[in-house]
Amino acid sequence: MSGQNKLVVGNWKMHGRRQMAGALVRDIAEGIPSGVDAALCVPFPYLEMVSGLVNGTALAVGAQDVSDCDDGAFTGEVSVGMLAEFGCRYVIVGHSERRARHQESSERVAAKAAQALRGGLVPIVCVGEQLEEREQGRTLDVISAQLAPVLALGSEALQALVVAYEPVWAIGTGLSASVAQAAEVHGAMRAALREVAGSSADGIRLLYGGSVKPETAADLFDGENIDGGLIGGASLKADDFLAICQAA
Ligand code: PEP
Repeated sequence: MSGQNKLVVGNWKMHGRRQMAGALVRDIAEGIPSGVDAALCVPFPYLEMVSGLVNGTALAVGAQDVSDCDDGAFTGEVSVGMLAEFGCRYVIVGHSERRARHQESSERVAAKAAQALRGGLVPIVCVGEQLEEREQGRTLDVISAQLAPVLALGSEALQALVVAYEPVWAIGTGLSASVAQAAEVHGAMRAALREVAGSSADGIRLLYGGSVKPETAADLFDGENIDGGLIGGASLKADDFLAICQAA
């Protein structure tokens, strides 16, 4: 895909304290290079502070989850309306840590993506296989099953969302997928998206995530159909995150 900036999104997960978060956001916001779209998905309690800090900069803000329901009796959940109030542009849905710890099904993940879109946010839908599934040669089947309910949202929805391929065995392990491994999955995802959205699918951004580091980012971002990255650990260090943005 060409003609569109790469998108680099940091996922802080459940890291940070107020002071550290403020300093990190300031450092990152100051250094975002031109020609790349960048965002930080931060813990809910920091959304208000971070939204204020990035105001007027090239950095966007996102959350790490959203409820698939409208406001109501859903203890512990956060609605898309609340996220919008705090200036969120993006929201991660279906991260493997949530799929595993909160038993989120692919149908629930698609419902969250649809709800995010209804609220005007850009969902970043995560998919990815376990190591065992890769070793059994089932990677593309797993990705296809995870994507199926998302594809069912239809062409218009697909064109407004982002998909992140994050092999579970690469997340937080220091073991990134090779460019060839990532490009194979991204190619299959692009083909599946084209079946629903036709040539418009070429504008849907497909991110790679899983132990992306400044040293590996440039090669990954050169890979076919790799339109940016979802960055965990390296988004907690301004120099590393900015170097990855630079590589994009
Ligand atoms: C992630 O949590 O989305 C992620 C990619 O983490 P890391 O970069 O630390 O592997």
